[in-house]
Amino acid sequence: MIEKVDKFPCGYTGKILSIDLTNKNIKTEPLDLRIARLFFGGRGIGIALLFKHFASLTRNGKYKNPFAEVNPLSENNVIILSTSPTTGTRMPTSGRIHMNFKSPLTGGYGSSNGGGKWAVEFKKNGFDAVVITGRSPKPVYILISPTEISIRDGSSLARLDATETINFLKENYGKRAQVLAIGKGGKNKVLFSSVMVDRGKALGRGGGGAVWGSKNLLAICAVSEPGTTIPVAHPESFDLKNKKSAMYHIKMKLDMGKFTRREENYGILSAMGSLGILGMVNNYKQLIHNNMKDTNHTPENINRISGEALRSHYKNAKSGEKRIRVKKSSCFNCPIACKRETTIIDEKGRIIDKGEGPEFESVTLLGANLSIYDLSLITQASYLANRYGLDTISLGGTIASFFELYTLVSKKEKLIDPEKLLLKETENFTAKYGKPGFGKPEILIPIIDLIGNCEDIGRHLAQGSYRFCSRYGHPELSMSVKKLELPAYDPRTSFSQALCYEMNNRGGCHLEGGYTAPHAYCAGYGEWPAHRIEGTALISKNATLKNTVMDIIGACTYGSFSLELDEYAALVNGVTGDNHDSGTLKEIARRTITLERTFNYLCGFTDRDDWLPDRFYNEQIDTNEGRLSCDRDGFLKMHIEYYRSMGWDDHGRPTQETLKELKLDKLIDGISLI
Ligand code: SF4
Repeated sequence: MIEKVDKFPCGYTGKILSIDLTNKNIKTEPLDLRIARLFFGGRGIGIALLFKHFASLTRNGKYKNPFAEVNPLSENNVIILSTSPTTGTRMPTSGRIHMNFKSPLTGGYGSSNGGGKWAVEFKKNGFDAVVITGRSPKPVYILISPTEISIRDGSSLARLDATETINFLKENYGKRAQVLAIGKGGKNKVLFSSVMVDRGKALGRGGGGAVWGSKNLLAICAVSEPGTTIPVAHPESFDLKNKKSAMYHIKMKLDMGKFTRREENYGILSAMGSLGILGMVNNYKQLIHNNMKDTNHTPENINRISGEALRSHYKNAKSGEKRIRVKKSSCFNCPIACKRETTIIDEKGRIIDKGEGPEFESVTLLGANLSIYDLSLITQASYLANRYGLDTISLGGTIASFFELYTLVSKKEKLIDPEKLLLKETENFTAKYGKPGFGKPEILIPIIDLIGNCEDIGRHLAQGSYRFCSRYGHPELSMSVKKLELPAYDPRTSFSQALCYEMNNRGGCHLEGGYTAPHAYCAGYGEWPAHRIEGTALISKNATLKNTVMDIIGACTYGSFSLELDEYAALVNGVTGDNHDSGTLKEIARRTITLERTFNYLCGFTDRDDWLPDRFYNEQIDTNEGRLSCDRDGFLKMHIEYYRSMGWDDHGRPTQETLKELKLDKLIDGISLI
C-alpha cells in the first residue's frame, strides 16, 4: 500500500515527479499542500502547475509575458500529467489521467483527459503528477517503475505508429505495463495530434501530441509493484454488502440510469458503446452534417452508422460486404463499459484490421459530417487516426472544412488570390484521387494518410481548420471556437450547449465546457427549452462546473449522466476523509476555470474569442422547434450573465476581487494582468 502522507488527506502520495529532458535530470519534489487543498486533483492540480511553470518563466526574467510569448512547440512549454486522490481506488471510472500544456492549436490553455489504466500504474509508483520540461535532442521514452525511473533511448520507436509503440513497450516491460504514446501525427507536429492510451483511447484535444513530438518524447511506460494499493480513509464507504454505504447507493444509481445501467437492462452505453447515442442525437436533429451546414440525414443512412448497426454488423452484413466483429471492453474499474474492441473481416472471413472503437464522435466527424455512411470504412479511418495519433474530432472537422472550401471555390467564376492558391495546392490531390467533396468515401483514407505524414495538401490540413481555411481566404468555414474544432452536436439545436462551446477555455468542446445537449433525452435539464435565452446561462454554468468537477476528481463524464455531485462527494470523502459536498467541489471547479481563463487572457485571448462561427448566427436550420439559428443579441446577454455568475467582468476577465475570493492571488502574485 502507498503510505499515507503526513498532513495530506488520504489518497495523495504528496510527491511530484519532475523530468527535465534537456539536462536529463529526474527528481522528486513535494506536492504543495496548499495547491492540493485549493485544486484537489486532475485538471485542478494540472492548471495550477501549468500556471506556476509559466509564472516562473516571468519571474526569472526570460520573458516579459511568457504566457503569450512561449511557442507551444518550443522547449519552454511544459507537459503536466496529473492524477487525483481517488485515482486507482474503488470509485467507479477512477483510471483517468489529465494532461495540461500550452496548446499549439489554440495558442492558449491546453488540456485533455483520457481513460484506460495508465494513471493507476503511474500513481502506484508514488506520484500525484509528473511535470516534463525541456527538449531531448534525440527521440526518447520515459520508464517509470519501482526499480527505475529513467529517460531511455527511443530510436527503436521512431518509425513505429502509436499502437506499435504501445505493443512494443508492453512486450518489453510486461502485460501490466501501461503506455502513453504518440504516433506519426505527434512526431510530425500535426497541430491536433493526440497522445494515445492503448489502441483507441486518447488524450485527444488541443494538440498535446505535437508538444510531445516537439520535445522528442515518444512514450511514457508506467508499471507498478504488483499488489500496491491506494489507502482510503473510510473503506466502509466502499463496502457493497452494506446497503447504507456510498458505493452501494452509487452502484444502484448507475444500474438504474438510462445510459449507464448494464446491458441486460438495456443500458445504452453498455449495450452499444458510445455510438449507442447516435440515433437519439439524430432524432433531436442535433447530428451535424456537411461541415455543420445542416443536420439532415436520411433514416436509411442513420441506420447504417448507428450503435444498433455496429452491434449487429457481423450478423447483418450482406454477402460480399465487410463485417465488423465487436467485443465489449472498459477502462479501469468502470461498470458502464462503453468501450468496444472491433475486428474488420472480409467476405472470405479473413481479418483485414482490428483496433478500438469507433466512438460516437469519430463516427460523426469522420462519417455523418462528411456525408459518409459506410461503417466499416469509418471504423478503419478511426483505427488509422488512432495509429497516427490524431484527434478524430479536429481531424474530421478539418477535412469537412476542406470539402466545403474546395466545393465553394471550384464553383466560383472569379477567384481571389488565396482561392487560386487552394486550387494550385490541391492539383496533385485531385489528379490522384479526384475532387475533394462531401459524400466521397474513397478519399477519406488517403486524406488521413496525407495529414498524418504532413505531405502535399496534408501539410496545410495538419494546421487545423482555422489556419487552413484562413490560408485560402475563408476563415469563416472553420467550425471552431478558439481554433478548436466543434464536436458532433449542432449548437443551433441547444442554446445551453452552444453557450458551453463558446465559454469553454480550451475551445469548442462539449466535455470540459459542459455537456448539455444529450440531457434533453437523458437526464437533468430535459424540461428546459432548448432555445430559451433567460436562465440558460445558469444552466450552462452549472454544466461547466459539473464537468469540471468530474475532471478534478478523476471520474468519467458518462457517470455524471446518472449521478449527482453530492453522490460523488460521498465517494471522494470515503477516499480522502474530507468533508466535501457539491458546493465545495463546485467552488474548486470555479477556481480551476477562473485560473484557466486567466491563463488564456495572459496568452492574449479576449471576449471576442468567446463566439461561435458566424454560420450559427446567420444560417437557420430545421430544428424540432422550427427553423432557427442562434440569436446574437440574446447570446450577448447570456455571455454577460455567465461572466457575472463566475465573478468575471462584462468582458469575461476574472476580477481582482474574484481572484482574491478564490485564493488565486498568491499564484498570480507579480504577474501583470493589465
Ligand atoms: S464510461 Fe466508457 S470512457 Fe468512461 S470510464 Fe467507462 S469505459 Fe471508459
